[in-house]
Amino acid sequence: MMTIETTAVHDRLVELIQLQVLYNRMHALQQKKGDLPEQIEDFQDKATALNHSLQELSSQLRQLESDIRTLHVSNDSLRDHEIKLQKTLMAVRNEQEYYKIETELRETRLTIEKNLRDISRLQARVESLRHRQSEEQKRLEEIRRLIAEKEAQLAEIHRLTHQQEEELQERIKALSEHIQEMDVRLFRLFERRRRSLRGGQALVPVTVIDDKEGRVACGGCYTLLPRQLQWELMQRNKIFVCENCGRILVDHTLFEEVAVSMP
Ligand SMILES: [Zn+2]
Repeated sequence: MMTIETTAVHDRLVELIQLQVLYNRMHALQQKKGDLPEQIEDFQDKATALNHSLQELSSQLRQLESDIRTLHVSNDSLRDHEIKLQKTLMAVRNEQEYYKIETELRETRLTIEKNLRDISRLQARVESLRHRQSEEQKRLEEIRRLIAEKEAQLAEIHRLTHQQEEELQERIKALSEHIQEMDVRLFRLFERRRRSLRGGQALVPVTVIDDKEGRVACGGCYTLLPRQLQWELMQRNKIFVCENCGRILVDHTLFEEVAVSMP
């Protein structure tokens, strides 16, 4: 069984539990922010992509509208030409000339019709792009609204937790200094574990896993503990470390007593 040598074991145990409880509270406060920062970043990426797509749509629409205008202008002058040709046709003197002008007139009318078909094809494309533009605009507005909402939530959580975090920070600092004075090796060991273990849990209460037998396991990695260790933990006169995960183990009743007594 791995133990840590120290003096005034009970006092040290209580102090370490207090320190761990403060860190657990700090961790819980930080968890409140959840994944809000990631969510905001995600929405911002989506907004950027939509903005880009909307710019692209605008430039396509400008191009199509200019093409349509060009076709209208072309048809206007073709129609003037058509009228001129019609007048000329009335005044022709021979068959050959009549045939020539009539052919030109037919070609002019065909071009006007083709232009009209092109205009309506382009117009349909414009309408479909405008529809997409308005859908994307709505989505962008919705995303902007969500970003504002999430940012407000985050600011509110920050406002509520900021003072608590500062208070916890101060208590952690004072207690850390005290433990360091009492036993610097013990403190360093605790800190190393805290920095390397998930959730910063350097110390855990044992957890009762079977009510009938009353067997206990490490509260961090759930490795079943030998009965001898379980008994020794209850004596509270040595500091034990879980052989599997390296967390400092304490009797769960002592842990609860200390945690409940803390302001
Ligand atoms: Zn463990």
